[in-house]
Amino acid sequence: MRVRIPTPGPGGTRKLTISSRAEPASPDASLAEVPYSHRGLTYPFGRTGPGTGALIALADGVGWARLPVPGSLKHINVWVLEDGPGVALVDTGLDIPPSREAWDSLFAGPLTGRTVTRVICTHFHPDHLGLAGWLTERFGAPLWMTRDEWLFGRMLTADIRDEPPREAIAYWRAAGWDEQRIEAEAAKGWGRFAKLVSPVPVSFIRIRDGDTLSIGARDWRVVTGNGHCPEHACLVDEEGGLMIAGDQVLPRITSNVSLGLSEPEADPLGDWLASIAKLQALPDSLLVLPSHGEPFTGLHARLDALDDGHRDRLDALWRHLGEPRRAIDCFSVLFGRQIDDSVIGLATGEALAHLRRLEVEGRALRSDRDGVRWFEAAGSA
Ligand SMILES: [Zn+2]
Repeated sequence: MRVRIPTPGPGGTRKLTISSRAEPASPDASLAEVPYSHRGLTYPFGRTGPGTGALIALADGVGWARLPVPGSLKHINVWVLEDGPGVALVDTGLDIPPSREAWDSLFAGPLTGRTVTRVICTHFHPDHLGLAGWLTERFGAPLWMTRDEWLFGRMLTADIRDEPPREAIAYWRAAGWDEQRIEAEAAKGWGRFAKLVSPVPVSFIRIRDGDTLSIGARDWRVVTGNGHCPEHACLVDEEGGLMIAGDQVLPRITSNVSLGLSEPEADPLGDWLASIAKLQALPDSLLVLPSHGEPFTGLHARLDALDDGHRDRLDALWRHLGEPRRAIDCFSVLFGRQIDDSVIGLATGEALAHLRRLEVEGRALRSDRDGVRWFEAAGSA
């Protein structure tokens, strides 16, 4: 197949300043430091990504573009796949003016005259799903997603209220938030998700684990994972040596794994660790295309590091539970830094995910007193 995805000329890319200690500001990134970051990874395309409106050719028929994300994440990578008469897009960016402008630049630049055949979203988080509705509307293209992710996106864009539901108040109280903080959070209203996501199409094409998607000359196998979200889709072209990883494997930051409000008895960290084990069966030689950071090789080293990082934190947390603790009492041991108001929601979700995992493993006991949830060590490390 002829390669029509052009490589940007000189000046078509810009340098990014990246710090592994950057402050995460998105539900995609964990708050934990990543001591094992980079070990064993190589970046064949360097550590500079495409600038706004530019497209880098990674392989025949596979292009890499970037859209802006406010805060420390700075960007999300999106993938442009040759697909017969047009291109298939994987992930879409937040519905904010700079992302729409970045797409406009792509369609006025390297994608001039190209139509969009389909929009595929790895998962429902707003930086991935945000412009799916806008793009599918613009090109009359279908949306392809796993069912759980589409349902979550549809549900959250429809759930807008003046005040948080009582379950949210109870969730914050259980984690140890004081009344003043709860009041301040409640005053922010409910339904922020919908502000960053264009209306999600009412119909979609379902993809599932094990499906093969023929896109252009390539066959991509759907490999699902969870823990970061309910049914995250990775796309793996084993023959071509490529893996579109979404947020399931990131090179420098760890993905946020939170026990959320919707399913308080879930075990997202257990799901996440099981997903890591599942992905370890994939070839180590794949070029991994992550949603944040740059394409890299070293999949197994990265999966091992992610697994080690969580298990080390679980052990440290278990030792910290010599006396009863609430979620908010665990931030120092899990994150090793100050948690301010801007990230306390994320920190709470992550702390609860780790505490819940210890409980499921039989290493912590939970008790509820006056609506506050306390955890204490049990069993052995
Ligand atoms: Zn995400």
